Amino acid sequence: SAKQQGRNTYQWFSEELNTSANYRVKLRNELQDAIEDDSLTVYYQPVIDSRTGRARSVEALVRWEHPSRGLISPGDFIPLAEDTGQIIALGKQVLNKACRDMVKLHAAGFRECSVAVNVSPIQVRKDDFIRTVQEALASSGLPPEALELEVVESAILNDTDQVIKTLHELRELGVRLAIDDFGTGFSSLSYIKLMPANKIKIDRSFIKDVIQNRSDAAITQGVISMAHHLGLEVVAEGVETEAHAAFLRKHQCDLLQGFVFARPMPFEDIKNYMNTHGACATTRNETETTNR
Ligand code: C2E
Ligand code: MG
Ligand code: MG
Ligand code: MG
Repeated sequence: SAKQQGRNTYQWFSEELNTSANYRVKLRNELQDAIEDDSLTVYYQPVIDSRTGRARSVEALVRWEHPSRGLISPGDFIPLAEDTGQIIALGKQVLNKACRDMVKLHAAGFRECSVAVNVSPIQVRKDDFIRTVQEALASSGLPPEALELEVVESAILNDTDQVIKTLHELRELGVRLAIDDFGTGFSSLSYIKLMPANKIKIDRSFIKDVIQNRSDAAITQGVISMAHHLGLEVVAEGVETEAHAAFLRKHQCDLLQGFVFARPMPFEDIKNYMNTHGACATTRNETETTNR
Protein backbone atom coordinates (compact mmCIF):
# COMPACT_ATOMS: atom_id res chain seq x y z
CA SER A 1 0.00 0.00 0.00
CA ALA A 2 0.98 3.62 -0.28
CA LYS A 3 1.48 3.72 3.45
CA GLN A 4 3.84 0.76 3.58
CA GLN A 5 5.72 2.39 0.79
CA GLY A 6 5.86 5.53 2.89
CA ARG A 7 7.42 3.60 5.74
CA ASN A 8 9.94 2.01 3.36
CA THR A 9 10.96 5.37 1.98
CA TYR A 10 11.62 6.43 5.56
CA GLN A 11 14.41 3.82 5.79
CA TRP A 12 15.63 4.81 2.37
CA PHE A 13 15.94 8.52 2.98
CA SER A 14 16.70 8.49 6.68
CA GLU A 15 20.19 9.87 6.23
CA GLU A 16 18.98 12.80 4.24
CA LEU A 17 16.46 13.88 6.82
CA ASN A 18 18.83 16.33 8.36
CA THR A 19 17.25 19.54 7.19
CA SER A 20 14.26 20.82 9.08
CA ALA A 21 12.26 21.21 5.85
CA ASN A 22 12.62 17.51 5.11
CA TYR A 23 11.85 16.68 8.71
CA ARG A 24 8.65 18.68 8.58
CA VAL A 25 7.49 17.06 5.35
CA LYS A 26 8.13 13.63 6.80
CA LEU A 27 6.43 14.46 10.07
CA ARG A 28 3.45 15.87 8.19
CA ASN A 29 3.10 12.65 6.17
CA GLU A 30 3.38 10.51 9.27
CA LEU A 31 0.84 12.67 11.06
CA GLN A 32 -1.45 12.23 8.06
CA ASP A 33 -1.16 8.44 8.47
CA ALA A 34 -1.98 8.75 12.16
CA ILE A 35 -5.05 10.88 11.39
CA GLU A 36 -6.24 8.51 8.66
CA ASP A 37 -5.72 5.49 10.95
CA ASP A 38 -7.52 7.33 13.73
CA SER A 39 -4.59 6.28 15.90
CA LEU A 40 -4.04 9.48 17.89
CA THR A 41 -4.70 8.97 21.59
CA VAL A 42 -6.34 11.31 24.05
CA TYR A 43 -4.99 11.57 27.60
CA TYR A 44 -6.90 13.24 30.42
CA GLN A 45 -5.63 15.40 33.25
CA PRO A 46 -7.87 15.91 36.29
CA VAL A 47 -8.73 19.46 37.37
CA ILE A 48 -9.15 19.83 41.15
CA ASP A 49 -11.70 21.90 43.04
CA SER A 50 -9.48 23.86 45.45
CA ARG A 51 -12.08 23.81 48.24
CA THR A 52 -12.90 20.11 48.24
CA GLY A 53 -9.66 18.74 46.83
CA ARG A 54 -11.71 16.62 44.43
CA ALA A 55 -11.75 16.42 40.64
CA ARG A 56 -14.88 17.46 38.82
CA SER A 57 -13.46 17.82 35.35
CA VAL A 58 -10.64 16.66 33.13
CA GLU A 59 -8.73 18.26 30.28
CA ALA A 60 -8.32 16.26 27.09
CA LEU A 61 -4.74 16.35 25.77
CA VAL A 62 -3.87 14.69 22.49
CA ARG A 63 -0.94 12.25 22.31
CA TRP A 64 0.77 10.77 19.28
CA GLU A 65 2.29 7.35 19.82
CA HIS A 66 4.68 7.36 16.93
CA PRO A 67 5.61 3.86 15.66
CA SER A 68 9.35 4.52 15.86
CA ARG A 69 9.86 7.76 17.78
CA GLY A 70 7.71 6.95 20.80
CA LEU A 71 5.32 9.40 22.39
CA ILE A 72 5.39 12.81 20.67
CA SER A 73 3.96 15.68 22.68
CA PRO A 74 1.39 18.06 21.18
CA GLY A 75 3.79 20.98 21.49
CA ASP A 76 5.80 19.25 18.75
CA PHE A 77 3.01 18.58 16.28
CA ILE A 78 0.07 20.92 16.94
CA PRO A 79 1.91 23.95 15.44
CA LEU A 80 2.75 21.81 12.39
CA ALA A 81 -0.86 20.62 12.12
CA GLU A 82 -1.96 24.25 12.27
CA ASP A 83 0.40 25.16 9.43
CA THR A 84 -0.72 22.28 7.23
CA GLY A 85 -4.43 22.52 8.01
CA GLN A 86 -4.39 19.00 9.48
CA ILE A 87 -5.57 20.57 12.74
CA ILE A 88 -9.12 20.51 11.36
CA ALA A 89 -9.30 16.71 10.99
CA LEU A 90 -7.16 16.13 14.09
CA GLY A 91 -9.26 18.50 16.18
CA LYS A 92 -12.48 16.79 15.10
CA GLN A 93 -11.11 13.39 16.13
CA VAL A 94 -10.01 14.64 19.54
CA LEU A 95 -13.38 16.33 20.11
CA ASN A 96 -15.31 13.20 19.14
CA LYS A 97 -13.11 10.92 21.26
CA ALA A 98 -13.33 13.20 24.27
CA CYS A 99 -17.14 13.36 24.04
CA ARG A 100 -17.44 9.58 23.68
CA ASP A 101 -15.06 8.94 26.58
CA MET A 102 -16.97 11.36 28.78
CA VAL A 103 -20.24 9.58 28.03
CA LYS A 104 -18.54 6.36 29.16
CA LEU A 105 -17.40 8.06 32.36
CA HIS A 106 -20.93 9.33 32.98
CA ALA A 107 -22.28 5.82 32.42
CA ALA A 108 -19.81 4.58 35.04
CA GLY A 109 -21.50 6.87 37.58
CA PHE A 110 -19.49 10.06 37.31
CA ARG A 111 -22.34 12.08 35.89
CA GLU A 112 -21.16 15.48 37.02
CA CYS A 113 -17.77 15.23 35.38
CA SER A 114 -17.08 17.52 32.44
CA VAL A 115 -14.37 17.51 29.82
CA ALA A 116 -12.34 20.42 28.49
CA VAL A 117 -11.11 20.16 24.90
CA ASN A 118 -8.45 22.46 23.45
CA VAL A 119 -9.42 24.06 20.17
CA SER A 120 -7.09 25.90 17.86
CA PRO A 121 -8.06 29.39 16.63
CA ILE A 122 -7.97 27.89 13.13
CA GLN A 123 -10.77 25.48 14.07
CA VAL A 124 -12.86 28.25 15.58
CA ARG A 125 -12.50 30.36 12.45
CA LYS A 126 -13.68 27.54 10.19
CA ASP A 127 -17.24 28.14 8.96
CA ASP A 128 -18.63 24.80 10.06
CA PHE A 129 -17.12 24.71 13.55
CA ILE A 130 -20.51 25.04 15.25
CA ARG A 131 -21.77 22.08 13.24
CA THR A 132 -18.67 20.07 14.15
CA VAL A 133 -19.40 20.65 17.83
CA GLN A 134 -23.11 19.91 17.43
CA GLU A 135 -22.30 16.66 15.64
CA ALA A 136 -19.80 15.59 18.31
CA LEU A 137 -22.46 16.19 20.98
CA ALA A 138 -25.27 14.54 19.03
CA SER A 139 -23.33 11.44 17.97
CA SER A 140 -21.95 10.83 21.47
CA GLY A 141 -25.02 11.89 23.42
CA LEU A 142 -22.94 14.11 25.73
CA PRO A 143 -24.96 16.95 27.29
CA PRO A 144 -23.53 20.30 26.09
CA GLU A 145 -22.98 21.49 29.68
CA ALA A 146 -20.46 18.67 30.12
CA LEU A 147 -18.28 20.05 27.33
CA GLU A 148 -15.91 22.95 27.76
CA LEU A 149 -13.83 24.36 24.93
CA GLU A 150 -10.47 25.96 25.69
CA VAL A 151 -9.32 28.73 23.38
CA VAL A 152 -6.30 30.98 23.70
CA GLU A 153 -6.77 34.75 23.97
CA SER A 154 -5.15 35.31 20.61
CA ALA A 155 -7.99 33.38 18.94
CA ILE A 156 -9.89 36.64 18.65
CA LEU A 157 -7.00 38.75 17.36
CA ASN A 158 -7.92 38.00 13.74
CA ASP A 159 -11.49 38.01 12.40
CA THR A 160 -12.54 39.34 15.78
CA ASP A 161 -16.23 39.86 14.98
CA GLN A 162 -16.66 36.46 13.36
CA VAL A 163 -14.85 34.61 16.15
CA ILE A 164 -16.83 36.42 18.87
CA LYS A 165 -20.04 35.52 17.04
CA THR A 166 -19.01 31.86 16.89
CA LEU A 167 -18.13 31.86 20.59
CA HIS A 168 -21.57 33.29 21.40
CA GLU A 169 -23.21 30.60 19.27
CA LEU A 170 -21.28 27.94 21.16
CA ARG A 171 -22.53 29.37 24.45
CA GLU A 172 -26.06 29.26 23.07
CA LEU A 173 -25.59 25.53 22.46
CA GLY A 174 -24.90 25.22 26.19
CA VAL A 175 -21.19 24.55 25.77
CA ARG A 176 -18.82 26.25 28.21
CA LEU A 177 -15.77 28.30 27.25
CA ALA A 178 -12.40 28.80 28.92
CA ILE A 179 -9.65 31.24 27.99
CA ASP A 180 -6.46 29.15 27.97
CA ASP A 181 -2.89 30.27 28.77
CA PHE A 182 -4.22 33.55 30.08
CA GLY A 183 -1.61 36.30 30.28
CA THR A 184 0.70 34.99 27.56
CA GLY A 185 -1.10 36.41 24.54
CA PHE A 186 -0.70 39.88 23.17
CA SER A 187 -4.35 40.78 23.29
CA SER A 188 -5.54 43.82 25.16
CA LEU A 189 -7.54 43.40 28.36
CA SER A 190 -10.54 44.87 26.57
CA TYR A 191 -10.83 41.64 24.56
CA ILE A 192 -11.75 39.73 27.71
CA LYS A 193 -15.04 41.50 28.05
CA LEU A 194 -15.82 40.60 24.44
CA MET A 195 -15.18 36.91 25.02
CA PRO A 196 -18.24 35.12 26.39
CA ALA A 197 -16.08 32.94 28.64
CA ASN A 198 -16.99 31.02 31.80
CA LYS A 199 -13.46 30.51 32.95
CA ILE A 200 -9.92 31.84 32.83
CA LYS A 201 -6.89 29.55 32.97
CA ILE A 202 -3.80 31.29 34.35
CA ASP A 203 -0.79 30.20 32.35
CA ARG A 204 1.68 28.00 34.16
CA SER A 205 4.54 30.45 33.51
CA PHE A 206 3.03 32.66 36.26
CA ILE A 207 2.61 29.78 38.69
CA LYS A 208 6.11 28.33 38.33
CA ASP A 209 7.81 30.98 40.54
CA VAL A 210 4.70 32.33 42.25
CA ILE A 211 6.19 31.70 45.70
CA GLN A 212 9.48 33.55 45.23
CA ASN A 213 8.63 36.08 42.49
CA ARG A 214 6.62 39.06 43.70
CA SER A 215 5.50 40.06 40.20
CA ASP A 216 4.17 36.59 39.43
CA ALA A 217 2.39 36.56 42.79
CA ALA A 218 0.86 39.97 42.14
CA ILE A 219 -0.25 39.04 38.62
CA THR A 220 -1.74 35.75 39.82
CA GLN A 221 -3.67 37.44 42.65
CA GLY A 222 -4.77 40.18 40.27
CA VAL A 223 -6.04 37.76 37.63
CA ILE A 224 -7.97 35.76 40.25
CA SER A 225 -9.57 38.93 41.58
CA MET A 226 -10.35 40.28 38.11
CA ALA A 227 -11.89 36.98 37.03
CA HIS A 228 -14.11 36.85 40.11
CA HIS A 229 -15.24 40.43 39.56
CA LEU A 230 -16.14 39.45 36.01
CA GLY A 231 -18.11 36.50 37.35
CA LEU A 232 -15.65 33.93 35.95
CA GLU A 233 -14.05 30.89 37.52
CA VAL A 234 -10.26 30.66 37.61
CA VAL A 235 -8.02 27.68 37.02
CA ALA A 236 -4.29 27.68 37.76
CA GLU A 237 -2.23 25.54 35.39
CA GLY A 238 1.10 23.95 36.21
CA VAL A 239 0.52 23.48 39.94
CA GLU A 240 3.63 21.45 40.68
CA THR A 241 4.15 21.78 44.43
CA GLU A 242 2.12 21.79 47.61
CA ALA A 243 3.37 25.37 48.18
CA HIS A 244 1.83 26.43 44.84
CA ALA A 245 -1.44 24.81 45.82
CA ALA A 246 -1.43 26.45 49.27
CA PHE A 247 -0.78 29.89 47.77
CA LEU A 248 -3.57 29.45 45.24
CA ARG A 249 -6.03 28.17 47.83
CA LYS A 250 -5.19 31.09 50.09
CA HIS A 251 -5.97 33.49 47.25
CA GLN A 252 -9.22 31.74 46.39
CA CYS A 253 -8.26 30.26 43.05
CA ASP A 254 -11.24 28.02 42.26
CA LEU A 255 -9.56 25.18 40.40
CA LEU A 256 -6.08 23.66 40.34
CA GLN A 257 -4.41 21.61 37.66
CA GLY A 258 -0.91 20.22 37.75
CA PHE A 259 1.54 17.42 38.34
CA VAL A 260 1.28 17.69 42.16
CA PHE A 261 -2.26 16.30 41.79
CA ALA A 262 -2.12 14.17 38.67
CA ARG A 263 -0.39 13.93 35.33
CA PRO A 264 -2.35 13.45 32.13
CA MET A 265 -3.31 9.75 31.91
CA PRO A 266 -4.95 7.35 29.46
CA PHE A 267 -8.73 7.10 29.67
CA GLU A 268 -8.51 3.60 31.19
CA ASP A 269 -6.87 5.13 34.28
CA ILE A 270 -9.31 8.01 34.70
CA LYS A 271 -12.13 5.87 36.06
CA ASN A 272 -9.89 4.57 38.86
CA TYR A 273 -8.68 8.08 39.55
CA MET A 274 -12.23 9.37 39.77
CA ASN A 275 -13.18 6.51 42.08
CA THR A 276 -10.71 7.74 44.66
CA HIS A 277 -10.37 11.46 43.87
CA GLY A 278 -13.51 12.43 41.97
CA ALA A 279 -16.11 14.86 43.31
CA CYS A 280 -18.84 12.71 41.80
CA ALA A 281 -17.57 9.63 43.65
CA THR A 282 -18.36 11.35 46.95
CA THR A 283 -21.88 12.15 45.80
CA ARG A 284 -22.35 8.58 44.67
CA ASN A 285 -21.15 7.11 47.97
CA GLU A 286 -23.45 9.43 49.89
CA THR A 287 -26.38 8.31 47.74
CA GLU A 288 -25.47 4.67 48.30
CA THR A 289 -25.31 5.23 52.06
CA THR A 290 -28.70 6.96 52.10
CA ASN A 291 -30.24 4.12 50.13
CA ARG A 292 -29.10 1.50 52.58
P1 C2E B 1 -2.49 23.52 27.47
O1 C2E B 1 -3.85 23.44 26.89
O2 C2E B 1 -2.13 24.73 28.22
O3 C2E B 1 -2.36 22.20 28.36
C1 C2E B 1 -1.64 22.11 29.55
C2 C2E B 1 -0.27 21.53 29.32
O4 C2E B 1 0.48 21.62 30.52
C3 C2E B 1 -0.29 20.05 28.96
O5 C2E B 1 0.82 19.80 28.12
C4 C2E B 1 -0.06 19.39 30.33
O6 C2E B 1 0.49 18.09 30.24
C5 C2E B 1 0.93 20.35 30.91
N1 C2E B 1 0.92 20.32 32.37
C6 C2E B 1 -0.09 20.03 33.19
N2 C2E B 1 0.27 20.16 34.48
C7 C2E B 1 1.56 20.53 34.47
C8 C2E B 1 2.52 20.81 35.50
O7 C2E B 1 2.25 20.76 36.70
N3 C2E B 1 3.76 21.19 35.10
C9 C2E B 1 4.11 21.27 33.78
N4 C2E B 1 5.36 21.62 33.49
N5 C2E B 1 3.24 21.01 32.79
C10 C2E B 1 1.98 20.64 33.13
P2 C2E B 1 0.68 18.96 26.78
O8 C2E B 1 -0.27 17.83 26.97
O9 C2E B 1 2.06 18.66 26.30
O10 C2E B 1 0.00 19.98 25.80
C11 C2E B 1 0.67 21.15 25.40
C12 C2E B 1 -0.25 22.05 24.63
O11 C2E B 1 -0.64 21.47 23.38
C13 C2E B 1 -1.57 22.34 25.34
O12 C2E B 1 -1.38 23.34 26.31
C14 C2E B 1 -2.42 22.80 24.18
O13 C2E B 1 -2.16 24.14 23.88
C15 C2E B 1 -1.92 21.93 23.07
N6 C2E B 1 -2.84 20.78 22.89
C16 C2E B 1 -2.89 19.61 23.56
N7 C2E B 1 -3.88 18.84 23.08
C17 C2E B 1 -4.50 19.55 22.10
C18 C2E B 1 -5.60 19.30 21.21
O14 C2E B 1 -6.27 18.26 21.25
N8 C2E B 1 -5.92 20.30 20.33
C19 C2E B 1 -5.22 21.46 20.27
N9 C2E B 1 -5.60 22.38 19.36
N10 C2E B 1 -4.18 21.73 21.08
C20 C2E B 1 -3.83 20.79 21.99
MG1 MG C 1 -5.69 23.77 27.58
MG1 MG D 1 -2.90 26.23 29.08
MG1 MG E 1 -0.35 25.86 26.55
